[in-house]
Amino acid sequence: MSNSPWLSLSDAIATMQSQTQPVSGSEKAEIKAAVGRVLAQPVIASLNVPPCNNSAMDGYALKSSDGQAGNTLQVVGSVFAGDSEQPAVLAGQCVRIMTGAPIPTDCDAVIIQENVSREDNKITLQTHTAPQANIRLTGSDITQGDQLFTAGHRLTATDTMLLSSLGLATVDVYRKLTIGLLATGDELVEAGNPLAVGQIYESNRTGVTALLQNWQVHIKNLGIVADKPETLKQVLQTAQQDCDVIISSGGVSVGDADFVKPVLDELGEIGFWKVAIKPGKPFAFGRLGNAVFCGLPGNPVSACVTTEQLVVPVIRHLQGETGLANGHRLTLKAQLTGDIRRRAGRLDFQRAVFSQNEAGTLMVTPLAKQSSGVMTSFSQANCYMLIPAEADELKSGDWVDIQPFSIAGKLN
Ligand code: AMP
Ligand code: MG
Repeated sequence: MSNSPWLSLSDAIATMQSQTQPVSGSEKAEIKAAVGRVLAQPVIASLNVPPCNNSAMDGYALKSSDGQAGNTLQVVGSVFAGDSEQPAVLAGQCVRIMTGAPIPTDCDAVIIQENVSREDNKITLQTHTAPQANIRLTGSDITQGDQLFTAGHRLTATDTMLLSSLGLATVDVYRKLTIGLLATGDELVEAGNPLAVGQIYESNRTGVTALLQNWQVHIKNLGIVADKPETLKQVLQTAQQDCDVIISSGGVSVGDADFVKPVLDELGEIGFWKVAIKPGKPFAFGRLGNAVFCGLPGNPVSACVTTEQLVVPVIRHLQGETGLANGHRLTLKAQLTGDIRRRAGRLDFQRAVFSQNEAGTLMVTPLAKQSSGVMTSFSQANCYMLIPAEADELKSGDWVDIQPFSIAGKLN
């Protein structure tokens, strides 16, 4: 780790991952509900897929030794998907066959129906048919005994389809994490209640909950907690008994109402970090009993950026996911549409809009309002635009890194 009083994002992630242990408990999850869960056991294929040679097309199964263009063959039967009987096929003969139907043992090729002319019970081949043509061979997708996934793999939608093709109804996954979420601040009011002078509606728990919902966790709402050390202490002491992770927002600075530090110093082992990202500092990390504690800054944009960039990598590690790259987010290159001057020092996650021009190039424009309290620009943005810590000037046309909020989401 560097000696700078600032911690780089990658050092912060590496430190958090090295100081925390993945969960060990596992459970069975229904395959259909397993997307996003992390495998607790490797998956070894218990059978071949496909389990037998079958036709990739609608056509005629034949012996490839009869497969010369111009040959006329007699159609002696037909096989459909699901048939288990095998018609005998002699030299000079063929059978009608449908996609997915088992290839008769006497045949070794299929000609597609578009490449024959048929008259009564005879077909004439219009093209040459080579051995294995249009046949899906036994085990060509999955071979029995293959390791399909290692433990620590997070399942995608297509993975679950693959597991279903093996006939599996459930998989062994690590148990879900319980994440306690609280917001600190005397000024905060729950939606649905009237606002008094000086108060604002609480929004961080909504943003953080939405971001964490992608990661298959149980979220426990610990409410809004007043800026009173005793109240905060009580809430944290109760929460640490049944939460794997406790996330708080607000109160981690050095203001007169910032009680998170003294309370946590008393209750657990917490470090107060200045992570060199903007927005984002300060950030608290440590342990409260058996729970991992993450203290987010109170400004809504900072709370979300630190959740995505710092908390999510720890959650993924705790969930048992392996092979996590340090920079865990998909990063693309886009061309900047204007000049930027700024003070170097921190990796800046600017809220920006990217789009694709007619040539297919990604173009990115940062939004005007970059204050960490401004939620409108966050909502208008469709990506983060990253400005490296050392850069003090960027020019129109420079290539910069962007992290799309959602590939499938809005492309403004
Ligand atoms: P703090 O980190 O507690 O000093 O808060 C920084 C700023 O963020 C203040 O303007 C707070 O009012 C605001 N803030 C803190 N927590 C929340 C929250 N949960 N929802 C909306 N704004 C918040
Ligand atoms: Mg506060």
